[in-house]
Amino acid sequence: MKRIRRRSAVTLALALLVLFGLGALLARLALRGGRWAAYSANAHVYHNGVLACGTLTDRNGVVLFSARDGEYAYAEEEAVRFASLHAVGDQRGNIGSTALGIFSGDLVGYSPVNGTDGTGGEVRLSLDSRLQAGAWYALNGRPGAVVVMDYETGEILCMVSSPAYDPLYGQRRDAEGMYINRCIGGLFIPGSIFKLVTLTAAAEHIPDLRSRTFTCNGSLELFGETVHCTGVHGEQTVEQALANSCNCAFGSIALELGGQVIRDTAERLGVAGSLPWYGGRTASGRFDVAARGSAPLAWSGIGQYNDLVTPYAMARLCAAVAGGGAVREGVLRAGDTGARSRLMDADTAGFIGDCMNYNVVYAYGKNNFPGLDLAAKTGTAELGDGSTHAWFVGYLRSGPPLAFAVLLEQGGGGLIAAGGVANHVLQLANGYYAS
Ligand SMILES: [Zn+2]
Repeated sequence: MKRIRRRSAVTLALALLVLFGLGALLARLALRGGRWAAYSANAHVYHNGVLACGTLTDRNGVVLFSARDGEYAYAEEEAVRFASLHAVGDQRGNIGSTALGIFSGDLVGYSPVNGTDGTGGEVRLSLDSRLQAGAWYALNGRPGAVVVMDYETGEILCMVSSPAYDPLYGQRRDAEGMYINRCIGGLFIPGSIFKLVTLTAAAEHIPDLRSRTFTCNGSLELFGETVHCTGVHGEQTVEQALANSCNCAFGSIALELGGQVIRDTAERLGVAGSLPWYGGRTASGRFDVAARGSAPLAWSGIGQYNDLVTPYAMARLCAAVAGGGAVREGVLRAGDTGARSRLMDADTAGFIGDCMNYNVVYAYGKNNFPGLDLAAKTGTAELGDGSTHAWFVGYLRSGPPLAFAVLLEQGGGGLIAAGGVANHVLQLANGYYAS
């Protein structure tokens, strides 16, 4: 009797162990099955290494990509297809860090009950196809990038990189860097938009910055090298110096701060170094510390020398200024909220934001941006061959909570060229999202 009781106890314990193991397996299958099913060796859901099922829509339900049983479809509107190529991806899998790769687990449409039945799942992206098309038309074939993000959630509403090709037909002509998403994967000389970084460092390290004045006689002489300004600006406050985009004032500030302080600030703001992007990283922005008192140090503080940035990092910086110093990291799925990071304190953000608004009022002309409550900074980055990158970055102070960066490669002047593209996209957004 005693032996029987002992045996039944052992059997019961074994049965419980098996049940527990089975339960754990089922739980893991339910929780992680999508990821297992999305594993690229699963021939059931992949054709030539690209997902063969699932649907990606924009935030309003417009289909951007769909696949079923290896048949692919894209947005109906041609401009949306071109504009969304880099953010969404295509059936050939030529482009990295796309929504297709990021959300493959959800697109497989795995369910613990039915497994992968071939129809796939649906993911609603944060992109707005109307802004995508608008940015594409505004770029008008010129190489460049447009990023627009909601600074309250981090949702990316617009991510356009040019040149692109129609994913429906594949690439038909060879253009330089066509496979690169310039928004997160392109590095460009920032020119004067970098003055936002130098200004942030100055606000944090020069106690009397806001009461000081800076004199510009048209150039700075440094050990026989000349740093030229765009004009002769005379005596200016730091706000006026930013609005004038005065190289003498910001060159002097860079000399006063030293390269290491600016570099530390640029890294903390995410402008130098890379940013996390869905398990990967963006291209790594660059700021080299030049010798104390040198002309290269002055140039580095005004966005030249060896400085390089991504458009996304600049939009994110503007989002942080808009958000009182804290930013929501960019997300590509509608309704998601990015992780919160603090880049600067609220007082500094308020000051930078006021300066950026003063730029528009004092220098850029509110009439060029009708109906927009804009804070911005222009950049016209010199490439050394006489051509310039045109930049325009900033955010809306009221209305829809949007931060943005626009780049036109070798596209001329910041205000006219890039500012024009920004205005076109922001006017659309203001119309769609004003409430
Ligand atoms: Zn000047």
